[in-house]
This record gives sequence, structure tokens and C-alpha cells, in this order.
Amino acid sequence: MGDTLIIAIDGPSAAGKSTIAKMVADSLGIEYVDTGAMYRAVAYKLEQRGIAETDRDEIQRILAETTIRFSNGRTLLDGEDVSERIRTPEIARQASLVSALPEVREILVLLQREMGTEQSLIMDGRDIGTNVFPTATHKFFLTASVEERAKRRYAELIALGEEANLADVATAIADRDHNDSTRAIHPLRKAADAVELDTTTMSPEEVTAQILSVIRGKENA
Ligand code: C5P
Repeated sequence: MGDTLIIAIDGPSAAGKSTIAKMVADSLGIEYVDTGAMYRAVAYKLEQRGIAETDRDEIQRILAETTIRFSNGRTLLDGEDVSERIRTPEIARQASLVSALPEVREILVLLQREMGTEQSLIMDGRDIGTNVFPTATHKFFLTASVEERAKRRYAELIALGEEANLADVATAIADRDHNDSTRAIHPLRKAADAVELDTTTMSPEEVTAQILSVIRGKENA
């Protein structure tokens, strides 16, 4: 990994990981990689092609000819900007299902590790500190109550012009928490050396300031 700075941010759905990661990336002038968007992009492609998550051979074939890149904060799937299309509750649900498939994780984790050899970055997801970059320079684990996370995701969906119902959003989040933390490979888990922050009553600015202070404190130690 050389001199590249790797910051891992893990945690359950809608705990504020991407908002915080973007703010930290801007402050430090490093890249931000949203690994959830990569799983969502795969789910979106499979849905577009009508491929079931049980059709493992076909999934493997499709993955071999798929490119996922980030450019100026946009998610490009095979060169096409899918940033908004992958944000629906249905794609989130499907992403959680396909992310449990070993062939999907293997390829995406390889891509994620490659990104970290080229540049300093902050990467968010579920298994960044435990699996993708177990030797990351800094690791954080963000949590918040299910109620607070549901409120945040609901507000995001309404802002995107989606129809949403708070109780349904809370149920979907609890289901994804369950899928993500009980799957056999690389489940959502706090790395033993990650700093855990409960963001339930914190603003994004407060969380970002705390993370930057931990990073600077460690760097000056
Ligand atoms: O973070 P986001 O909600 O966009 O992630 C979508 C889904 O992708 C998650 O529910 C999870 O199942 C999966 N994921 C994962 N590993 C990661 C990032 C996301 O399994 N590193």
C-alpha cells in the first residue's frame, strides 16, 4: 500500500457513512469510494438483464464484462451514469441479496483493493476495515438507531422525488441489517481496531469533526 492513506468507514445502512465520507474526503483532498454503489450497480445491471440471483453462471459471465467506475462523484456502469437509478429501495434490497454471492464479492473486492494501490482514499461499506483493507490507516464504524436511520433514508427518498412511507423504510432497513450482518461471507462487522461512533444525535458536521480529530491525533502521535 506504500504511502497511500486508506480510511475505512463501515456501518449499517443509512448510518450516514457516505455523507460523512464525502465531507472527510473534501477536507483531506482525497478520493471517496462508495462500495455500496458498486453492489447497487451490479444489482441494477442484473435487474435490467432479467437475471435472477440464483443464476450464478450467468452472473459470473456478466460480471466479467462489466466495468464500474467513479468520476466526479458519479457512478458509471459500463460508461453510463446510473447514480440516480441505483438509489431506489428496490435496488437497495437487491444489492443486499447479490452482495451475499461469493462471485460478486470476489470481483468487487479486487476492484476496491486496486483503487487503494493507486491513490489515497476514504472508502465506505460493510467489510472495508475487516476484509477489503484490514491494514487501513484509520478505521471507523458508524452506527445510529434504526428509527434515526429510517428518518434519514426517508428524507433522502422524498428529496429524490420517490414515494416513501416511514414505517416501510424502517422495516426495509432492519431487513437489510439482518441480511448484511448474518451472511456467510464478509458480513457487516466492526473491526476490532475500528473507532465506533454512534451518530444518532450528532450532525454530519460533528461526526466529520470527530473523525478528522481522531485522524489528526493519530498522525501527530
Ligand atoms: O451502502 P449501501 O446501502 O449503498 O449498500 C447497498 C448494499 O450493498 C448493502 O445493503 C450491502 O448488502 C451491500 N454492501 C456490501 N458490502 C459493502 C458495501 C455494500 O455487502 N462493502
